[in-house]
Amino acid sequence: MSTILTVNHLTKKFGHLTAVKDLSFTIEKGNVYGILGPNGSGKSTTLGIVLNVVNKTSGEFAWFGGNTSTHEALKKVGAIIERPNFYPYMTALQNLKLVCKIKDVTQSKIEEKLDLVGLLDRKNSKFRTFSLGMKQRLAIASALLNDPEILILDEPTNGLDPQGIHQIREIIKTIAAKGTTILLASHLLDEVEKVCSHVVILRKGEKLYSGRVDSLQASFGFFELKSDDLEKLKSYLSTNEHFGSIKQENGLVTAILTSELNAHTLNKLLFDKGIIVSHLVKRKESLEEQFLALTKNVNA
Ligand code: ADP
Ligand code: MG
Repeated sequence: MSTILTVNHLTKKFGHLTAVKDLSFTIEKGNVYGILGPNGSGKSTTLGIVLNVVNKTSGEFAWFGGNTSTHEALKKVGAIIERPNFYPYMTALQNLKLVCKIKDVTQSKIEEKLDLVGLLDRKNSKFRTFSLGMKQRLAIASALLNDPEILILDEPTNGLDPQGIHQIREIIKTIAAKGTTILLASHLLDEVEKVCSHVVILRKGEKLYSGRVDSLQASFGFFELKSDDLEKLKSYLSTNEHFGSIKQENGLVTAILTSELNAHTLNKLLFDKGIIVSHLVKRKESLEEQFLALTKNVNA
């Protein structure tokens, strides 16, 4: 797998406010990443830093393994971090031709990209006649004109109606399926769940979780257990193939399942090993519950 972007201990301060705090993550080619967090959690600031429009306070980032300058690297990055802005009295086609001239890229991809975002039949319509969703789709087409390695989107569905939201998400999935790496910032858990394979969760500029969306979902649920002999309990659980991560907090052991196992069976297995539990509950948390738990006390 090749690395598209590495972010290492990145920090951004605006005066006394730390917008991004010691943030590290890696973006590998071919995946769809979500930066997920409530408003004000530092998503746009993070994108701004790696796109060279916001100065970092400390830390590093490197594009494509760090062998090219950021300026050169950004030529292989397509980004939409602001509301789409084109010339209102020019058509979609005229606007994209202009973008090609400004960016010095070939005009040969214009029709293909308009088709991809479902605007080919509107190519001769003036930009000002477009709905917000169409404007956003034109911006996506524009960002793809030079076939970038990665497409970066900041809150791509903000302000759109449900149909517009659906269209944008489907387009993002299509682009990803063609092999373009995607990084999108969103405050919508639902969006990340539907579109992304990987997620970095931020709260007040700090990373709370990064990894696959499906491992966060913990689709097989988890057990909460208590026992007088916690060490023996944990050591048994760590050898049991059904469990992934095992955590302990205040005498309560949480063991995440990586395959199906019911409470009755686990109870018997433990009993057979001479481990008596005083508490055994199987739970299944939705991603939403986990997200809320991870990001709670946002204003604290
Ligand atoms: P998000 O995109 O997750 O909503 P932002 O990255 O926009 O969050 O903002 C993170 C924090 O940094 C917020 O508290 C915001 O008010 C602050 N912030 C962002 N840009 C600036 C700026 N140019 N000057 C001062 N504070 C800023
Ligand atoms: Mg933002």
